[in-house]
Amino acid sequence: MNDEPLRSLKGIGEKTEKLFAKVGVTTLRQLLHYYPREYDQYTSPVPVSAVRAGTTCAVRGMIVNSPSVKGNQRKSVILLELVQDSVRLQLTWFNMPFLRSTLKKGASYVFRGKVQEKSGRLVMEQPEVFTLGAYDQMISCLQPVYGLTKGLTSKMVAKAVRQLTESRALEQEYLPEEIRRENGLCEINYALEQIHFPENMETLQQARKRLVFDEFFFFLLAMRRLKERTEDIRNAFPIRAVWTTEEVIENLPFPLTRAQMRVWNEIESDMKSSARMSRLVQGDVGSGKTVLAFLAMILAAENGYQSALMVPTEVLARQHYESLCSLLADNHLEQYEPRLLTGSTTAKEKRRIYQELADGSCKMVIGTHALIQEKVQYHSLALVITDEQHRFGVRQRTALAEKGEPPNVLVMSATPIPRTLAIILYGDLSISVIDELPARRLPIKNCVVNIGYRPNAYRFIQRQVEQGRQAYVICPMVEESEGMDAENVLDYTERLKHTLPESICVRYLHGKMKPAEKNEIMEQFARNEIQVLVSTTVVEVGVNVPNATVMMVENAERFGLAQLHQLRGRVGRGEYQSYCIFVQGTSDEATSKRLDILNHSNDGFLIAREDLKLRGSGDLLGTRQSGDMEFALADIFRDSEELMKASQAAGKLLAEDLELAKPGHELLRQALSDFAALDQHDIGI
Ligand code: ADP
Ligand code: MG
Repeated sequence: MNDEPLRSLKGIGEKTEKLFAKVGVTTLRQLLHYYPREYDQYTSPVPVSAVRAGTTCAVRGMIVNSPSVKGNQRKSVILLELVQDSVRLQLTWFNMPFLRSTLKKGASYVFRGKVQEKSGRLVMEQPEVFTLGAYDQMISCLQPVYGLTKGLTSKMVAKAVRQLTESRALEQEYLPEEIRRENGLCEINYALEQIHFPENMETLQQARKRLVFDEFFFFLLAMRRLKERTEDIRNAFPIRAVWTTEEVIENLPFPLTRAQMRVWNEIESDMKSSARMSRLVQGDVGSGKTVLAFLAMILAAENGYQSALMVPTEVLARQHYESLCSLLADNHLEQYEPRLLTGSTTAKEKRRIYQELADGSCKMVIGTHALIQEKVQYHSLALVITDEQHRFGVRQRTALAEKGEPPNVLVMSATPIPRTLAIILYGDLSISVIDELPARRLPIKNCVVNIGYRPNAYRFIQRQVEQGRQAYVICPMVEESEGMDAENVLDYTERLKHTLPESICVRYLHGKMKPAEKNEIMEQFARNEIQVLVSTTVVEVGVNVPNATVMMVENAERFGLAQLHQLRGRVGRGEYQSYCIFVQGTSDEATSKRLDILNHSNDGFLIAREDLKLRGSGDLLGTRQSGDMEFALADIFRDSEELMKASQAAGKLLAEDLELAKPGHELLRQALSDFAALDQHDIGI
């Protein structure tokens, strides 16, 4: 039933369906699991004198003078001014003439909306209006705020979800009673209802706990079943060490760090061994993982085998492709002519690459998910490397493992995970850690500032650009979205274009753009044809433009520190002094304190741990640590306790019933496959 299309709901026609499709929701199940991004809390009303620009708030005020109306019936503006202690707040409503008779002179109301400063005056546009009594009832209520696209409002999403939660039994409980009892988990339908429409903080917490558990549990079930199938497999592609890799290492413009050398030796000895390699290489941003991947590919090619390097974005694929080409050229290994295979590769080019992969003439391929499409057949795929692995689910790994003889697997990740968690999450992999950064890098200078500092920041960026450098500016959102007070890439770019001199080229980049457009922009940035790139966190993943020296992050409070640390890793990659400017959208002290950790540490592991400690585990509405793990809700740092529990439960269950074939496990088995099909990770950020 939950596989039915969205259209089966009342009030959802073709147009709305298309809007939902844009955020990745086409079936009822997807809608149900389209969890709110955050919750709007109706806080106690404040007096006019306490209102501040840039915040959303509820103001209590008495109407002294009748509101004035301008314009005609079709296009009217109602203006009302609230005054207290000589603070004035202008309320404005467009095209709502009926309000005039609703608002009674001498009566008090609560007005709720975003406060802006316009030509020196405080203004609230289109505020919601409540009587005092009505507002009292709303206080402490949590309203869902969803990830949106233009034309789609949180109200529309909420209304659609309501229809589901009210009219149908959503899911049949699939978790065995015992697992629920042992882990203190609420029932699934209750959890789904409360995650969308929480009665209060407590019920939200319960709902979240259950859904987080499920995410981990299913992930672990899938992964461990995969492990059962692939463990102890003989290495079908035994390899002999070659001089070439030694020469390539000698030829690099820098010496490898000791940590890089150690990990390279581990990789090499795995590949030579008679058992298949399954290795995770963890190393902080900038620790130099890429070159190890290339060495492994060269080693495979020199032994006559194929290798594939898979990355999460086209931008990164292209960048790796170009670096590999130049590394090969520097070492007279051009004969290996690597291929680039992504979604925007032309059909003709794709056919040619498929052919070369099938007949074995292409030895090295770099690409995105396109590498694992059904049509792609490999001749002798001995090595599969995934870079920035956290964006790939078990499913993708399974797909690759099923292409011919199981290849050696190397996974590269910059996500700082403590070893205990890594063992649970990547239980099927051995772990290598690059725990050392290349020497002679200038440390990045950081500052945490509030929005008042922007003019200085822009002047600073301008000076850097005049010296030939480049800058990133990160905003949390792509476009303006109702209910979310955060900077967005589109509007910000326009503003910045006006602020900076015309000679500076400012462009934007975000996850909803077409891949070809993204590539084009990223390439222009790499060639310094664009000097300032305004972007969402899409640049967080592995991009390497050593000439960029400024990373300015707007609404830094909305990001997990580990994520900010990743963003910071995009600068400081070359010889120039680099700078990070974290701009706080809200000026509360807890946030400043949290962000301040970044000033004192450059260690990704430590940063994530400290962040978590400061926020405490009760912080439900807080930011996620890592932008885009495999999970919709779960956060491996904040929810590490649930992760441990899910791990135990999964272990116990599989020990009893590996195939999930015993009576009582039918629903669970079905839910596991539904879960795997729910791909929510490719939605643009
Ligand atoms: P990451 O581990 O984040 O993927 P990269 O592999 O992209 O890091 O490397 C970051 C930068 O450091 C690249 O420009 C790379 O050429 C350079 N690099 C890698 N290893 C070393 C080293 N041992 N010494 C100096 N620079 C290095
Ligand atoms: Mg990298």
